[in-house]
Amino acid sequence: MRRAGWGTGALLVALLQALLVAPTARAQQPLPVVASFSILGDVVAQVGGERIALQVLVGPGSDAHVLQPTPAQARQVAAARVLVSHGLGFEGWLPRLARAAGFKGRELRVADGQVPLKAAPAADRHGHRHDVDPHTWQDVARVRPWVPRIAAALCEADAAGCEHYRRRAEAYDARLQALDAEIRAQWAAVPPPERKLITSHEAFGYYAAAYGVRFLSPQGISTEAEASARGVAQLVRQIRAEGIRALFVETIADPRLIEQLGRETGLKPAGRLYSDSLSPPDGPAAGYEALMRHNTRLMVDALRAR
Ligand SMILES: [Zn+2]
Repeated sequence: MRRAGWGTGALLVALLQALLVAPTARAQQPLPVVASFSILGDVVAQVGGERIALQVLVGPGSDAHVLQPTPAQARQVAAARVLVSHGLGFEGWLPRLARAAGFKGRELRVADGQVPLKAAPAADRHGHRHDVDPHTWQDVARVRPWVPRIAAALCEADAAGCEHYRRRAEAYDARLQALDAEIRAQWAAVPPPERKLITSHEAFGYYAAAYGVRFLSPQGISTEAEASARGVAQLVRQIRAEGIRALFVETIADPRLIEQLGRETGLKPAGRLYSDSLSPPDGPAAGYEALMRHNTRLMVDALRAR
């Protein structure tokens, strides 16, 4: 170092170079972003593209209602410039994790400000009671407002990428709009009174409201074995009385109750629905759009079959 030998001019040039080089160097490094669970992670990835380095805390096949964070996950949160979560109480573990990790970036809860549906009155399968139903992504029209909000949060953290995020957000939103129309068109093949089925957990309230389908679920009646047996018997009667023709297991919930219902009613489970998680990359619900298409096709095919 020959700092002593630098004249004012050379120092100024060095400073200017530092100023000019710094933003470029940063733009080449992808923006570190953390998303709380796999479905939201895909939506963030669609908007961020190659400008972001995305980490998803609760990956495919895992239950995002609960998480015991590992030190590695705390480090991912600590390194993130943007932390994207759903909100409405879905990730009850996240505020503590963000605090413990010393997270200092921008935080976005995509569903904040949306008017949520009330949760089913019974407890969920973990025995927890929720005031609101957090599974808003089951209605495509509720995911579309997330997209510009994600673009804005990424843009705030990476100003040079604003145009990139905005363009991607617009293209993705157009696809979501088409997806919503496609789901409605699929359901048009099933008369509204016949749009009723059984699933494992209370995760499809938004889907029900958006697309005119009735979901009945044994989980949530009670977590006690005795009461649960009574609940199952009740549901068996309801299945017969209402002529319900389709049962589904659900990828993150215990399939045993559904299998029992199947035995007692003679209905065969018609497949596995993805409620709270994507499938692994080689599965049928590797992204949000694929998940909604897969679930819809499975339900419509089962109800149209006879
Ligand atoms: Zn759930």
